Amino acid sequence: MAHLSRSLKLLFLSTSVGPLGSGLGGGVELTLKNIVRSLTHRNHEITVVAPGGSVLEGFSLVEIAGNLQTTAQSEGRDAWIGMPGNSVLANMWDYTRQVQTQYDLILNFAYDWLPFYLTPFFFCPVAHLVSMGSLTAAMDRAIAQVINQFPGTVAVHSRAQAQTFPFGNQCEVMGNGFDLSQYTFCPKPDNLLGWVGRLAPEKGLEDAVAVAKETGIPLKIWGIMQDVAYWHDICDQYPNAPISYEGFLPTAELQQALGKCRALLMTPRWVEAFGNVAIEAMACGVPVIAYDRGGPSEIVQSGKTGWLVEPDSITSLIEAIALLDPLDRAQCREYVEAEYSLTAMGDRLEAWFTNILTSRKP
Ligand code: UDP
Repeated sequence: MAHLSRSLKLLFLSTSVGPLGSGLGGGVELTLKNIVRSLTHRNHEITVVAPGGSVLEGFSLVEIAGNLQTTAQSEGRDAWIGMPGNSVLANMWDYTRQVQTQYDLILNFAYDWLPFYLTPFFFCPVAHLVSMGSLTAAMDRAIAQVINQFPGTVAVHSRAQAQTFPFGNQCEVMGNGFDLSQYTFCPKPDNLLGWVGRLAPEKGLEDAVAVAKETGIPLKIWGIMQDVAYWHDICDQYPNAPISYEGFLPTAELQQALGKCRALLMTPRWVEAFGNVAIEAMACGVPVIAYDRGGPSEIVQSGKTGWLVEPDSITSLIEAIALLDPLDRAQCREYVEAEYSLTAMGDRLEAWFTNILTSRKP
């Protein structure tokens, strides 16, 4: 694997749907933080550009004012590109244009049209870490244009995510990496199930709630309340289910509570690009029961670190719960230490950056 012998100056552009630390950015927030940790440890110098109100303790952060982008998940395939007046996304890229000569590489974390459109206008190479699967034709087109003009500059988190795009085989697959020292292994769980994610329709929370109702095993739910109407619908549909909404917690508190679960249920309706929460659960020793599609199907080793079950089947989820006892919680932790550490991620990122920088030399 190619390694970088020199220290790079890197400019990271965060998601423009919410300030870092708000939870609105979903998994991107933790992913960005982990990548900053991993590369800083390797002596690269990183500055993060993010919407005003962001929190990123201990690292160099430039906060930019402006109105947030709306999230892309719920738009139809033919949705137009939309931007608010005084867009924070546009302001972030205006700032980047002015400082670009100070950096070796710009890394974009936003799933938005503008950064892809602007890529050829920049002198400094721009790499993109795409955080979701294909959602709209307009975005697919914008990403495809970058891949054609600058091969090797677009990365995704999983092969399943890549395959949702027509140009999937041209994407670099980065996986993800975590600071596992932040997660405590919990050998003995309580009789509890966990569900972690944005409360939004594509995450399929209702199926996990149906499982709680059928089995009587209490379900704890953690995550940002993105769609209140969706949550109320679920509560109306399952009035007596043994569930509790525990709010959106910082990692330190989340992992402590999550570790007490017998299993994490992952019931997304969409092709989950990766599923950070699967790794976080396993880091605490919690096996993952997930629908067999998208990122989780590449992360969970069925029968060892959890169970992959037929997508959208509540019966299959319930059957998997009956099979939890033979799973070894210590094996979940060992597996993520081997595959999803910051070191493993840092190696992959450095190799990716090396390829980009070598191919861009005049
Ligand atoms: N998360 C958190 N606190 C909570 C619930 C969730 O910090 O109480 C974070 C979690 O650590 C993960 C993110 O929210 O990084 C959800 O990311 P995931 O990749 O699972 O899904 P996405 O929201 O990107 O679709």
